[in-house]
Amino acid sequence: MGYLNRSWELALIDLDGTLYRGDRVIAGAAAFVERLRVRGIQPVFFTNNATRTPAQVVDKLMSMGIRCTPDEVCTSAQAAAAVIRASTGGSVPVAYIGMDGLREAILEAGLEPLEVRAGTPRPALESAKAAAIGLDTRVTYGDLAAFCRVVSRLGQFVLTNGDVRLPVEDGFVPGNGALGAFVETATGVAPVVTGKPEPRFVAYALQRYGARPERTLVIGDNLLTDVAAGVRAGLYTIQVLSGVRYAADGEPQARAVGMSPDEAAACSREPQQPAGQWAPDEVYGSVDELFPDGDA
Ligand SMILES: [Mg+2]
Repeated sequence: MGYLNRSWELALIDLDGTLYRGDRVIAGAAAFVERLRVRGIQPVFFTNNATRTPAQVVDKLMSMGIRCTPDEVCTSAQAAAAVIRASTGGSVPVAYIGMDGLREAILEAGLEPLEVRAGTPRPALESAKAAAIGLDTRVTYGDLAAFCRVVSRLGQFVLTNGDVRLPVEDGFVPGNGALGAFVETATGVAPVVTGKPEPRFVAYALQRYGARPERTLVIGDNLLTDVAAGVRAGLYTIQVLSGVRYAADGEPQARAVGMSPDEAAACSREPQQPAGQWAPDEVYGSVDELFPDGDA
């Protein structure tokens, strides 16, 4: 209960596994967000998912009764666009593979989105000053080949998030980290990764919302992404057990997606650290238990 003895101004809250699981809201999630607001804590919906725009995230949360606005949604795609904006100064073509979330983030950052497809004319590809990739479920070999040409020329690319596998009902589907690995293997260029567990994603959020690190809480279910991001950024971090399931010894995500712990470690983009390295400050069953009424 240590977090209740401190004062907070911002909460960076994970989505899947923390506020909902798939299409089902986690019990008490909407009321939890309202309790934050009552206490003057700004909720920020802090997600690695680069496919959805903030408005699309809001639609999903509102459909589950969770009140929020697009400004409160902070995505790895927006962090990727900010990185590119900072390194290029803006108003340059950015070659990208990705869905609405990444395209809009590039536009909103004052950059020019240039979608890379197999048939994109070569002069267009050669005009790109930066490259970014986010999960795109429609991507083809030809699209990736064209993207690799751009990356090879630029010698750099941004990966919105390194999630290798995404759990689904009956196993997993490949995540954006798998696309990044394809590009990295083919080009020999390692990406700049912007999503959790990268502390730069937390730093982006703190700057964007003007929050102090010592007044900001990180809340999420995944040790390897949410908790690692919070701990590495030096923030107070709460893990909830409502999403990805963990064994008693802290083995990560593996079980939820049918991987052995070794496989899970091999899938991590990080130096091979045991999951226990990223110990949260506190652990609760779900957000329903956080900031209980009567403790205000
Ligand atoms: Mg999660």
